[in-house]
Amino acid sequence: MPVILPANVKFIIDALYGAGFEAYAVGGCVRDRLLGAEPKDWDIATSATPAQVKEIFRRTVDTGIKHGTVTVLLERCAYEVTTYRVDGAYLDGRRPSEVTFASRIGDDLSRRDFTMNAIAYNGRDGFVDPFGGAEDIKNKIIRCVGEASQRFNEDALRMLRAVRFASQLGFEIEPQTLSAIQPLARKLALISAERIREELTKLLLGARPQALCLFRVNLPIQYVLFGREYPGDMLEKAAQIAACPKVTALVYALFLLNYGAESVKILRDLRFDNKTAREISEYIRLLPPRLENDSYAIKKNLRGLSADHFFKLLTLKEILEPEKAAEFHAIRAAAEGILARGECFSIRQLAVNGDDLIAAGIADGKAVGAALESLLDRVLRDPSANTRARLLTEIPRFARNDGP
Ligand code: ATP
Ligand code: MG
Repeated sequence: MPVILPANVKFIIDALYGAGFEAYAVGGCVRDRLLGAEPKDWDIATSATPAQVKEIFRRTVDTGIKHGTVTVLLERCAYEVTTYRVDGAYLDGRRPSEVTFASRIGDDLSRRDFTMNAIAYNGRDGFVDPFGGAEDIKNKIIRCVGEASQRFNEDALRMLRAVRFASQLGFEIEPQTLSAIQPLARKLALISAERIREELTKLLLGARPQALCLFRVNLPIQYVLFGREYPGDMLEKAAQIAACPKVTALVYALFLLNYGAESVKILRDLRFDNKTAREISEYIRLLPPRLENDSYAIKKNLRGLSADHFFKLLTLKEILEPEKAAEFHAIRAAAEGILARGECFSIRQLAVNGDDLIAAGIADGKAVGAALESLLDRVLRDPSANTRARLLTEIPRFARNDGP
């Protein structure tokens, strides 16, 4: 089965050959095409040096010249064009001490992590697949290129990549590759939090998060990532995550819920951005308490959480307590009704605003805020009270209390 290269990729490869060099599509894009999936991006490997690549194409960006990568821009798309390279010695378990450019595609493929990621393709030569990657893809197997222990020793992140690909692709990790993980898992401590988070996120969002259970087999990974064994039944957790919509904040809320208060530290350790960390913490905080099915409580939640987050919280509740599905369904329908009728649940939606209160003689900013809160509480209990006329009649009550 030939890989159909997009026109731009073919153009870049042809241009490189036209200038006397070699070039191939390589890595994840070839793997994804062999799986019948649409690649997110196309990477190209070439015998040309970065300087030579820059001479051939009009618009380029120096993405990682030191590592041989130049980004070629074509019709609003970006393509990473990387010079064939072999990695020098790995001194610290996470990055090569130096990279050396190579002259043959085979050398470049041998530095790649898994056989399925070590296939090159172009229209002239077809596949270059020295490690049997296409066969492994067919059999759904994740296998290191070369000796697994050595490859994981060089770069510990590869262990986590193996597990995340198992989740994303639903592949099995080949036994020797899998058994090399346990004794080396502690080396993950060398990897930056950002890279760990990226892989963990892909794992949790993958089609088969049951791959998490490989962490149980390979206990040290859990200790390195989270400081202790997973607090709870990993298999049950994986099933919950599998049933969850593929949304980062939701899958992390399910995963970290079991850590309770410790989850705050884990979110910080993983260097989440503040907004996402806050959203995840919010779900974790609100998952255990009961959700009341009355319109006052629902509106309080819609206000505190935003409608979007409230519905997501309900989704999580439905996953965690399937026996209460009917109750959550009723709460969801009630919330949808409140939104559809445009019922007020926030100060912004009140029929009066701060200026009305100031005009009525309430001078102090704090008192204005308190009065608006009180009016909102009244309207949450009785939506029909949210008219300008009715709320204006309430205001003098606050003005009288507005003493020094
Ligand atoms: P994705 O679809 O998630 O992008 P990918 O396989 O394209 O998966 P990338 O991180 O984009 O993953 O890397 C591109 C290619 O670079 C890989 O297919 C693999 O050949 C190689 N590669 C990436 N990370 C490593 C690594 N840590 N060690 C060895 N080779 C790697
Ligand atoms: Mg990629």
